Amino acid sequence: MPGRLAGLSLWARRRVGRRFRAFDARRALPKPRAGGYTNRVFRLDQAHVSQLSDLLFETRIAAESFAEFLSGGRLRLGVTGLSRSGKTVFITALVQQLTRALAAGAGRRTALPLFRVVAEDRLENAHLDPQPDYGVPRFAYEEHLSALTGLDRRWPHSTRRISELRVSLEYKRKSTSMFSRTGTARLDIDIVDYPGEWLLDLPLLDKSYARWSVETLEASSAAARAPIAAEWRGANALIDPLARFKEPTAQRLASLFTQYLRHAKTDRFALSTLPPGRFLMPGDLEGSPMLSFAPLAVEEGAEFPARSLALEMERRYEAYKAQIVKPFFRDHFARLDRQIVLVDALAALNSGPAAVRDMETALTEVLTAFRTGRSNLLGSIFRPKIDKILFAATKADHLHHTSHDRLEGILRLLTSRAIARAEGVGAKIDVIALAAVRATREAVVKHDGETLQAIVGTPIAGERIGLDAFDGMAEGAIFPGELPADPRRAFRGDALAVPEEDADFRFLKFRPPVAQLARDSEPLPLPHIRLDRAMEFLLGDHLV
Ligand code: GDP
Repeated sequence: MPGRLAGLSLWARRRVGRRFRAFDARRALPKPRAGGYTNRVFRLDQAHVSQLSDLLFETRIAAESFAEFLSGGRLRLGVTGLSRSGKTVFITALVQQLTRALAAGAGRRTALPLFRVVAEDRLENAHLDPQPDYGVPRFAYEEHLSALTGLDRRWPHSTRRISELRVSLEYKRKSTSMFSRTGTARLDIDIVDYPGEWLLDLPLLDKSYARWSVETLEASSAAARAPIAAEWRGANALIDPLARFKEPTAQRLASLFTQYLRHAKTDRFALSTLPPGRFLMPGDLEGSPMLSFAPLAVEEGAEFPARSLALEMERRYEAYKAQIVKPFFRDHFARLDRQIVLVDALAALNSGPAAVRDMETALTEVLTAFRTGRSNLLGSIFRPKIDKILFAATKADHLHHTSHDRLEGILRLLTSRAIARAEGVGAKIDVIALAAVRATREAVVKHDGETLQAIVGTPIAGERIGLDAFDGMAEGAIFPGELPADPRRAFRGDALAVPEEDADFRFLKFRPPVAQLARDSEPLPLPHIRLDRAMEFLLGDHLV
């Protein structure tokens, strides 16, 4: 029943996800600028891991370190997270903050008070430079920024494959003692964006095809997954794995299996642990025969007859490991110095506790990748040198600030249990709830004698609350619900894909905010939540 409150039109029918206000937010917006997208083709190395290539690889790293020593500092920052976790938005916002930190002009209050090199006025220059790896596509920063800040401001296209971008910073050194170096120094930051789904492939490396088949079929029979996997499981049950191989059968099983994985990943279910990663995020391998395998009902240790379906599926699985998984870990992952793992905890919370627990399993597997090489067999393939990992719950602007610490608390619990299960990682780890781009502001709304902490923004066209649909133009004040004060509550229960009317919270998608222009008529960095804290953790100690 609409009402009027301090100029707000009010729609409040439900406990959560209430919509309070609708007013026209159309304003004069900056013109979009042409993008500078470089479309380089990335080919995966087809070579198997060999001792020789490991040696060459280590020599290259040593040579690179020496060159860095001569030329200034260098840091390879990995940005990962499952699809839609916010990688593209995070990198675009981070690079805009770094390269435009000085755009507001001297004397203006910084938007990055916790990023010390800026807060202490020591940043002298920041710009994009050519990236060192010509074989990796460039992160399409200009294109993504103009999507975010252009006339019809919208979220950029998401990460689908690996890409890279170099930002070079020149800064005044901080003199900490009589003996410390002074003057201007340079830090080249190579930001490497890659799908988190690929990290979840690591456990496959020491798993046989039969073992993986047994585990995958078993996982798909759990209450939360069985309905989503029904079609694929039904088709699989009719197949004799030892029958003669036929390509159409393999294609059909692979396609049904992929559909199951994709369905489980949708917002409705928001499941996380769904390897093989390239089935969800194929990168340049879209349609490749390397992705046309699927688990079969086989027994561990069984011998498969020549020309059987099971034997061919096993070969494709082994090729996937040798030609896709290993080269990624060796050539890209092992070269990272720092890592931020973005987590869309709100999507899992929206779906229910079964999705939250599944996310915990995924994080355990991600953490296993970081400790690999320190103590297990996979160390012969790659040895990560990552010394800091930041887990970041993204899109905190979907919540009122009173819930930010609660979101951080849930992520802290998710990761601490995952760290315990991964038996230590050996890198410094921190946890944060952030919004790389803040699309909402806050308002207090009184309704039916109740005071509600609402957020105000422009929900994207098609978002709905009950029967109300948003048109992408009108702003709305929304009460998204409150996260539980005790983070353990987020893990209790078996619900998945909780229907809207039963949910304790409901998060809508908002359009990006309207960009403000600087004196040079280019957009100022977009508002954010706690991005500066993340920057200080990831980069701060290299900028002193
Ligand atoms: P990726 O697949 O990890 O690259 O994810 P994206 O960066 O493309 O983000 C996926 C979607 O999440 C975007 O289209 C936005 O709708 C939303 N999103 C990501 N970051 C933010 C943020 O900081 N604030 C808000 N409000 N939404 C975000």
